[in-house]
Amino acid sequence: MVLHPCVFFLLDTRCKSSIKYTYETRRCDYQDQTRELTQAQGDCCLEARNSALRLRATYRCRIGTDSQAGKEVAMKRSHVIRLNTTPEQEVYFRKACGVARHAYNWALARWKEYRAQGKWAKMKDLKAEYTRIKGQQFPWCSEVTKCAPEQEFANLGQAFDNYWRMKKEGTLPKLKHPRKDGEEGGFPHFKSKKQDRLSFYLANDKFSVHGQTIRIPKLGAVNMTEALRFQGKIMSAVISYRAGWWFVSLSVEVKHEVPTHRGGTVGIDLGIKTLATLSDGRVFENQKHYRRGLGRIKGLSKGLSHKREGSQNWWKNTKKLAKAHYRVSCQRQDSLHKMTTHVARTHALIGLEDLNAKGMLANHSLAQAVSDASFFEVKRQLLYKAEQHGGYVQLVSQWYPSSKTCHECGWIKEDLTLADRVFICQQCAVVLDRDFNASLNIRDEALRLVTDVPVVASSECKFACGAGSSGSEMGETFCCEAGTKVV
Ligand SMILES: [Zn+2]
Repeated sequence: MVLHPCVFFLLDTRCKSSIKYTYETRRCDYQDQTRELTQAQGDCCLEARNSALRLRATYRCRIGTDSQAGKEVAMKRSHVIRLNTTPEQEVYFRKACGVARHAYNWALARWKEYRAQGKWAKMKDLKAEYTRIKGQQFPWCSEVTKCAPEQEFANLGQAFDNYWRMKKEGTLPKLKHPRKDGEEGGFPHFKSKKQDRLSFYLANDKFSVHGQTIRIPKLGAVNMTEALRFQGKIMSAVISYRAGWWFVSLSVEVKHEVPTHRGGTVGIDLGIKTLATLSDGRVFENQKHYRRGLGRIKGLSKGLSHKREGSQNWWKNTKKLAKAHYRVSCQRQDSLHKMTTHVARTHALIGLEDLNAKGMLANHSLAQAVSDASFFEVKRQLLYKAEQHGGYVQLVSQWYPSSKTCHECGWIKEDLTLADRVFICQQCAVVLDRDFNASLNIRDEALRLVTDVPVVASSECKFACGAGSSGSEMGETFCCEAGTKVV
């Protein structure tokens, strides 16, 4: 499934805010919990202690979304649906994309003109100017919906905002070669017909959806391959082209009741050898879809390089290559979604390493494998799925030595290399699978981060043993919680 970039952004900002919220509220609740725990331990009653721990664990797990638990909240979700287009509809879509691209490029060019005169143009004024002159200068604009060009001003405004923000933060991308237009990296580009993805926007009052049809202004009904899955207010639509197909991405505001999650805690170690290793022992293999599809992709890329750019055969080949890439991307999305859904459903508190994928991509020998495993996508999916299921994702810093630390005794193996698949502790002689050891450490670190509560029972053996003897899965979690290292 393909998600529109704006959805990324929405999900991302919301998750960030919920994490922030956690840190603020945590302190108040934490005192109550500690009191409860101390009381239970003072009575030396195992049952009471366990139930207090259980309370605390469920409480902790829901921390991020707790104020919303059981309540209805509005959630923005998007559904990407493939369209069954007729040739006439395809022509209309291409025209609309062309108009949108033209408006974007016109606005950017005009902005640069103003800059040359020493003035700073506002998007609002540029949009007004465009609306004023389009009837005379660009009469073909009126053949398609007026949403297509209008939204491009907002898009360009966003592009400029991103540029200014990055400039302020000093995070502008570094360029290997200077740009032809002499701008800095990160400055908005002119959109190209060949390179940029074709897409245009529709505002919610300009189209309607009934069953498997969508009505588009100045075009009429277009058939969708499936009906919209979400119930709620439709906010907007973006029609885009990918690998020979047209898609509509419908953004819907759904009412969502946040459930109370009853699951336990899990740590996830993401890797290249295996996609994910969970601390409950489950392993998701890395299916390396890109590696498998690489033969066809290589062949097609080679064919493309032998053809004259822009010729009929070149376009045909481009289409085939795009389809090969799209196929790989669909396969990858499928396996990632299956993994993240399983994790979000079964576990309330998810410990996840906050990997720096960009830094890892810089290592050339790993780059292909890392981008094939798509760590960023795993994180994005887990963040929104956990929120849906009432769980919480605790990110563990990338500098936390999860693989190097022995889970049993905390000894750190400094000279660990990627080739060491088995972790052998030189202090307590424990032998563990490398990824499994890391996932256990990530789970404990996540528990520590989410609570910050000094675990009272760690020195008292009878609690730890007692909890373990109950034999239940919950009991084991508590036992490990009790053993959590406190820094
Ligand atoms: Zn050890």
